[in-house]
Amino acid sequence: TDSIDFPTTDAPRADEAEEAAVKPVVAVVGRPNVGKSSLVNRIIGRREAVVEDVPGVTRDRVAYDASWQGREFTLVDTGGWETSVSGLAAMVAGQAEYAAQTADAILFVVDATVGITDTDEAVTRVLRSTDRPVVLAANKVDGAGAEADALELWNLGVGEPHPVSALHGRGSGDLLDALLDALPEKPPEESLEEEAGPRRVALIGRPNVGKSSLLNRMAGEDRVVVDAVAGTTRDAVDELIELGGQTWKFIDTAGIRRRFRALQGADYYATMRTGAALERAEVAVVLLDVSESLAEQDLRIIEQVVESGRALVLAFNKWDLLDEERRYYLEKEIDRQLFRVRWAPRVNISARTGRHVEKLVPAIEIGLASWDTRISTGRLNSWLKELVAATPPPVRGGKQPKILFATQADARPPHFILFTTGFLEDNYRRFIERRLREDFGFEGSPIKLSMRIRE
Ligand code: GDP
Repeated sequence: TDSIDFPTTDAPRADEAEEAAVKPVVAVVGRPNVGKSSLVNRIIGRREAVVEDVPGVTRDRVAYDASWQGREFTLVDTGGWETSVSGLAAMVAGQAEYAAQTADAILFVVDATVGITDTDEAVTRVLRSTDRPVVLAANKVDGAGAEADALELWNLGVGEPHPVSALHGRGSGDLLDALLDALPEKPPEESLEEEAGPRRVALIGRPNVGKSSLLNRMAGEDRVVVDAVAGTTRDAVDELIELGGQTWKFIDTAGIRRRFRALQGADYYATMRTGAALERAEVAVVLLDVSESLAEQDLRIIEQVVESGRALVLAFNKWDLLDEERRYYLEKEIDRQLFRVRWAPRVNISARTGRHVEKLVPAIEIGLASWDTRISTGRLNSWLKELVAATPPPVRGGKQPKILFATQADARPPHFILFTTGFLEDNYRRFIERRLREDFGFEGSPIKLSMRIRE
C-alpha cells in the first residue's frame, strides 16, 4: 500500500475565485493627506481601526470589511502598495493603476479645500483610461460654506464631486449611496442558508470499519438491525443522538445500519451514498480500522470529504485489537498516507469496548469551529503583509508577482482569495496555507485558497 498516493485535492485553482461569492472591492485612491484614512475609518465605522495616516509611513493594513445599507464590500486603501517613491505623482498614479486593475469601483478622494493639484490630475488620467466606475469624494467640506470648493472639482472630469467631511461625517451617507450605485449588481443570494437545529455529522468509512457498532454505542443501545431486502431502496434516515450534553444529527443512519456487503456494485453504491451524506453534513467522521492496513478506499473516502469542503475528524477504530507491531506499522501508514490531512484531529477509539468514544465530541467541535471561522479583512492583511515581507513570492518568468491584498470570501469551509499581479506557484500557496494554519489554527477544516490575478 506504500504506493498509494493521496490525491492532491487541496491544490487551489486560479479560476476558483470567480466561482466564489467574492464581495465587491472598492479601492480608495488619492494623494497623501487628503484624508483617505479618516474617510476609510468613517466608512468602516471603526470596526477595525485604521492606523494613523502618518506621512511617509506605510500603513500596515490595506484592506477592510465594510458595509452600507446591508451591502457588504471590501475597502482597499492603496496607500500601502507602493513604497518606492519616484515622485509623488508617479507613485499615486501607480496606485491608481493597481486600483483600476483590482477593484470593482474606485473611490477617488480629493481635498476640496486645496483644489485640483497636479497629482490629482495624474490620478485622473489613469482613472479615465479604465472602465471601472469612479466615485469622486470632495473631502474636508466641513460646513456649507465649503460646498463651493467641491463644485470646482467638476473640472477634473470624472463626474460629480460628492462633498464630505470625513472628520465630522457630513455627506458620507450620500457618498456611500453613490458608491453602492457604482458597484456591480449583487449576485443572487446562494441558498447556503445556515440550517438551524443540531449540527450535522456524517459517519462514514468503508464496510466493516465499525460504523454501525459505533452508532449503536453512541445511541446507547444495541439495536437489532433488520437487513434490507436486496434491491429495495429506502429513504435516508437521519438520527438525533445526544452526546456530550448536545444533540447531534447523524446523517443517513439507515444507510449505515443496512448491510450491502453481498450486493453487486456495493462499492459504487457506497460511494454515492457517502457523497449524498456529505452533501447534507457539516462535518465528517471518517472511521478507519486499525486492525488492517489503510486501504485505497479509506483514502478515497477522505479525499471525498476534503473535496466536499466539510470538516474532518479521523477516528481510528478497533483500537482494542492493536498490538505493538501493528501499531508501529500504523504510525508509518499515517505518516506516509495521511500527511495531506495532518490538520484533521485524530481520535483512537474502540466501538466495541467504548474506549475514548467520548473524545469524538470535542474533536468534532474543534473541526466545526475551524470550519466556521472568519478572519476579518483587516487582521488577515496585516498578517499577510508581514508574511510576504519576510518571504516574498518567488520570481516567475523574470517577474515577481505581488500580493496586493486578501479577503476571506467565505466560511464553511474558509475560502481565501489572494489578489495578485501574477501567478503564485503551488509551493508558495501551500506555504501560505501552512502559515495560515500555524497562525490561525483551522484544525479539522479544509482551507480553500484561490487567486485573482490582474497582470
Ligand atoms: P460497518 O460496516 O462499518 O457498519 O461495521 P460494523 O459496525 O458492522 O462492524 C464490522 C465488524 O467489526 C463487526 O464484527 C463488529 O463487531 C466489529 N467491530 C466494530 N468495532 C469494533 C471495535 O472497536 N473493536 C473490535 N474488536 N471489533 C469491532
